Amino acid sequence: MNRILVTGGAGFIGSHLCEKLLKDGNEVICLDNFFTGRKENIAHLVGNPSFEVVRHDVIEPALLEVDQIYNLACPASPVHYQFNPVKTIKTNIMGTLNMLGLAKRVRARILQASTSEVYGDPKEHPQTESYWGNANPIGTRACYDEGKRCAEALMFAYHRQNGVDIRVVRIFNTYGPRMLENDGRVVSNFIVQALRGQDLTVYGEGSQTRSFCYVDDLVDGLVRMMNNENLVGPVNLGNPGEFTVLELANMVKKLTGSSSKIVYNPLPPDDPVQRRPDITLAKESLGWKPYVGLEDGLLRSIEYFSSRISASV
Ligand code: NAD
Ligand code: UDP
Repeated sequence: MNRILVTGGAGFIGSHLCEKLLKDGNEVICLDNFFTGRKENIAHLVGNPSFEVVRHDVIEPALLEVDQIYNLACPASPVHYQFNPVKTIKTNIMGTLNMLGLAKRVRARILQASTSEVYGDPKEHPQTESYWGNANPIGTRACYDEGKRCAEALMFAYHRQNGVDIRVVRIFNTYGPRMLENDGRVVSNFIVQALRGQDLTVYGEGSQTRSFCYVDDLVDGLVRMMNNENLVGPVNLGNPGEFTVLELANMVKKLTGSSSKIVYNPLPPDDPVQRRPDITLAKESLGWKPYVGLEDGLLRSIEYFSSRISASV
């Protein structure tokens, strides 16, 4: 049994991770400032004697005693991370510094949730971990992309200079239950729009591609990486199935049986044209691969959003 800190633990991925770590018999401290996280996401865990919640902002130091740290605190949707870009940069840089300082003091292993966004608008396809990326350092996505790139640099600097035991994963688009209805990311937008009979908002022509990983698969990869003795990373975690945004819209329409129309809105600046992970490293080193296909994962997510939407009517 370990005592494990999950920053961003009340968020979408963080809450699933807390649940899994508790199931595996660990003590879990969930630390969150509740910017995009919700108490509802972890309400079913409160009352478990091995679970503790701390309202805290990672841009301030935290004094705790733990064996492992999963550093997930950071809004992930462009809508939310662009709401206060300076705060997003502070969260990625000061937050990661604080968590690295904690890891160094208590000799904990720390895993950083990095992102496929470090590859920017990639010129190599699919993306392998050795690709350095094509990110715009001054664009509207930079607070997130460059924030995460700097967080990776900090992780490796603390590792080389101070011997901190690090793990870095680059997460590709992940979806599933507990995303916010107003999260702004494509899967939740399309499902919520389809269920409400609203138009599905495709940005651009919908020819850009993404690879969508179901949250349970992703959480399995995070835990495998944390507990792997040989690899610091970075390691790509994502589902290599690649779909255009328009294909996704049509799939959501079919699976919900919705008669919503598809409408075309302007493409946001610096929106990557294509994205697909090469997961050879994760397969070979962690024995990890995703199992949940897109239709199956969408059906599970549709069930979740329908129950929330009908409960709020
Ligand atoms: P989310 O927005 O649901 O969760 C982020 C959590 O961090 C929220 O609970 C939020 O309240 C908390 N948080 C934000 N700023 C904080 C701060 N300063 N101090 C303390 N808590 C703070 O997003 P998610 O999809 O669950 O993403 C979790 C992590 O995974 C993020 O670091 C994100 O960058 C990374 N990631 C996610 C995806 C994805 O597709 N979901 C892809 C790549 C990387
Ligand atoms: N997108 C879209 N309609 C929406 C929301 C997003 O067409 O309502 C597009 C967006 O422009 C991008 C893709 O879907 O090309 C994935 O967007 P998301 O915000 O989910 O993730 P990211 O761009 O960070 O990969």
